[in-house]
Amino acid sequence: MSQRYPLSDTLQASTHQVENQPPPLENYNSYTTDRALQEGVQREGGTDDASLKAFGKWAGSAEAIALGFDANRYSPQLVTHDRQGHRVDLVEFHPAYHQLMQTAVEHGLHASPWRNPKPGAHVNRAANYYLHTQVEAAHGCPITMTFAALPALRHQPSLLESWGEKITAPHYDPRNVPYFEKQGVTLGMAMTEKQGGSDVRLNTTRAYPIDQGRPGDAFELVGHKWFVSAPMCDAFLVLAQAPGGLSCFLLPRWRPDGSKNPLHIQQLKRKMGNVANASSETELRGAFAWMVGEEGRGVRTIIEMVAMTRYDCMIGSSAGMRQATAQAIHHATHRHAFGATLSEQPLMQNVLADLAIESEAATTLMLRMARAMDHQDNEHERLLSRIATPVGKYWICKRTPHHAYEAMEVIGGSGVMETHIMPRLFRESPINAIWEGSGNVQCLDILRAIEKQPEVLDAFFDELAKAQGANANLDRFVRNLKQDLQDTQALQYLARQLADGMALALQGALLVQHAPDYVADAFCAGRLIERSALNTGTLPTGLDCAAIIERAQPLE
Ligand SMILES: Cc1cc2nc3c(=O)[nH]c(=O)nc-3n(C[C@H](O)[C@H](O)[C@H](O)COP(=O)(O)OP(=O)(O)OC[C@H]3O[C@@H](n4cnc5c(N)ncnc54)[C@H](O)[C@@H]3O)c2cc1C
Repeated sequence: MSQRYPLSDTLQASTHQVENQPPPLENYNSYTTDRALQEGVQREGGTDDASLKAFGKWAGSAEAIALGFDANRYSPQLVTHDRQGHRVDLVEFHPAYHQLMQTAVEHGLHASPWRNPKPGAHVNRAANYYLHTQVEAAHGCPITMTFAALPALRHQPSLLESWGEKITAPHYDPRNVPYFEKQGVTLGMAMTEKQGGSDVRLNTTRAYPIDQGRPGDAFELVGHKWFVSAPMCDAFLVLAQAPGGLSCFLLPRWRPDGSKNPLHIQQLKRKMGNVANASSETELRGAFAWMVGEEGRGVRTIIEMVAMTRYDCMIGSSAGMRQATAQAIHHATHRHAFGATLSEQPLMQNVLADLAIESEAATTLMLRMARAMDHQDNEHERLLSRIATPVGKYWICKRTPHHAYEAMEVIGGSGVMETHIMPRLFRESPINAIWEGSGNVQCLDILRAIEKQPEVLDAFFDELAKAQGANANLDRFVRNLKQDLQDTQALQYLARQLADGMALALQGALLVQHAPDYVADAFCAGRLIERSALNTGTLPTGLDCAAIIERAQPLE
């Protein structure tokens, strides 16, 4: 006869009641619950409200969220040789990664504005990309690079003609076979070398002409690339020293004759974040490539790609902030402490509202830049995007790590656990700031833009003037910013201060025009006056934090 333990039977059951644990944030529509996004898409000329609603439903589903977790739990593995000893340079990914890539490509995140350049195409894509990144950010790297490669390829119409259709096709094909056997391809880039990342002029990889050595002709590349992300891409834009100077090349994984191109992956880097995406160190051993654009003008050619990837960094980091804000508010709305719901307690309201205005400011700025991308034929929009892209890339990406950490703290100990999305958002958060031109490089680019084309500053202040007179804090801030710009001494030394000021002024001007007053007032009072503190949750009194939190709630 089995023994009975009456005490443990009853006590165990009662101590294992799960109470006061917020449910996971899933099976919600991440588009329709994001008012700043939905209003912004409509305001900036987006036309895909119906399909964004469907996409948001998918992106908030438990099924999609699980893909993001799986793609990161099972990191990519490098296989350099096959069973018989042939060099294969293969990176194997979890099926969840491929599913995310397929969804992204089928929804045109890699190319929709190029394939179907209708009004609002960039705004539509930016919104889709923003939703997809909230599910998983790392796979966005090859998606962005593919998107960004096309403008650079326009410098070589012959290559654009043969590659353009495949690059923009809504068809993801992960097979390790030559590009000419595929309907759709993905593209990467290989600029950075050990001795030179920001300063690519230090690149030592050499390009040897196989035939005439003209733009569009074939070369062989010899050298080493220190960072090649997504090495399973079908081709890469590469910088290398041709006889006439640093030039841009398109290097396919397979040669045109179907033989394997000697692009040897030495190892995958062990990254602190961006785990689902592989980043490699790669050796070029006489790798076949076509020259893109003029010889010796490689930076000028590839900068077209870089401008696009920087713009995408803005979208990606805004998305990270939105997801962190949604998680924090969701948690605090379901969690009680000291006798009340966390989200209703004044100090927590200050923190949540501060997270929410940071997120809305980022979303609003990136959507404004998407509109500028849609109207590059307009002089004001073109000049504005030239100056506001480095401003936005610098600022939004730099604000994200601290934002992620503060959102994590709202969730408390569970926010640190790998079962939650917060550790992933946190580890992802510094990467956009460093990749594609780190903070200082963006600041120097702002100065370069102003020096080369002073009209960009006029366009910038014209944009700010649209909000003039609506908020006294903003008006004062803009006046001070103009004064700061008069002082050209130590401009480089003070470039971060200048970039901070430009970003805040632009975000303030956009919110004052477009966001509800309680959001714009909080932003201007919390960010644009001298006593503004650096920590999150230090907004001044007299603001409607409850309304700000309510607006950012991830609930219908
Ligand atoms: C996850 C990840 C993926 C990547 N994938 C790719 C890829 O696919 N292809 C690729 O080509 N590269 C890739 N990179 C490389 C990345 O673009 C570089 O790391 C970045 O451009 C910085 O270059 P660096 O590391 O050589 O740093 P450095 O150029 O040495 O810069 C170090 C620091 O100095 C600062 N600095 C530089 N010049 C100045 C100056 N004049 N004044 C003041 N400060 C300055 C920079 O802002 C930076 O903070 C990737 C990086 C990461 C983290």
